[in-house]
Amino acid sequence: MQYKKLLDLHVHTDNSFDGNHSTTYLCERAQMLGLRAVAFTDHSDIDTPDKQQLERSALQSFFEISKAKSAFRGRMIICKGIELGQPVYDIETSEKILNSQKYDFVIGSVHNLRGMQDFWYLDYSKENVPELLDKYFDEIINLVDWGNFDTLAHLTYPLRYIVGDSKIPVDLSKYDDKINLILKTLAEKELALEINTSGLRQNLKKTMPEANIVKRFKDFGGKYITIGSDAHYAEHLGAGINEGMNIAKDCGFDSVTLYQNREPIQIPIE
Ligand SMILES: [Zn+2]
Ligand SMILES: [Zn+2]
Repeated sequence: MQYKKLLDLHVHTDNSFDGNHSTTYLCERAQMLGLRAVAFTDHSDIDTPDKQQLERSALQSFFEISKAKSAFRGRMIICKGIELGQPVYDIETSEKILNSQKYDFVIGSVHNLRGMQDFWYLDYSKENVPELLDKYFDEIINLVDWGNFDTLAHLTYPLRYIVGDSKIPVDLSKYDDKINLILKTLAEKELALEINTSGLRQNLKKTMPEANIVKRFKDFGGKYITIGSDAHYAEHLGAGINEGMNIAKDCGFDSVTLYQNREPIQIPIE
């Protein structure tokens, strides 16, 4: 099915260290694609040692998104977002950044374990994969216990590199207890689960998380789903959003969610 109202709630501009296009250029492109809403969610990796730089780049990102939001008012909904990476590794800095601006939308994510590099950099032929995954899910449990975000980003992120790139098979059912606790806590706190579609265009060939986890979130009473391409290039704006909506619908959700002033707004899937 081809849906009419596509929202992309996870997009990086060149205010992210790994982003490539300006906020304005991405807005023009989003409009051409007919997207109804876009959330710009530049990285703010809280465990970065240089906190001053972190605050400066968060401010720069927020400022440019705010300008775009005004310029495109009435044409497209723009959410002033941020992707907080590893926020529980330094809660004080996380809260300082969150309180410094009026964000519409906050993504919570874990890209690395404490004191380690992003999962992207690890050599899995030399790592203890089950131990890494155990620790990863523990950190996600810490993140949802803190809960000062709106949607949980790309649950199962390490699989992008372990399964997708390194071709090491992983039996996720071994982590079911932890994953279920994460989903249950999200549902109880009325937080959203993100369907991150970047894996569809990468080697993983699946969303993060995959459909059966989205279904379990529904079974635990989860109400809110956000869908994001995690685009770092204009070419990837809106990529896989339609497939993500299919998964949401198949799992029993009849709307997807966008956020304004950190309040959820349900948009029917149609
Ligand atoms: Zn991320
Ligand atoms: Zn991202």
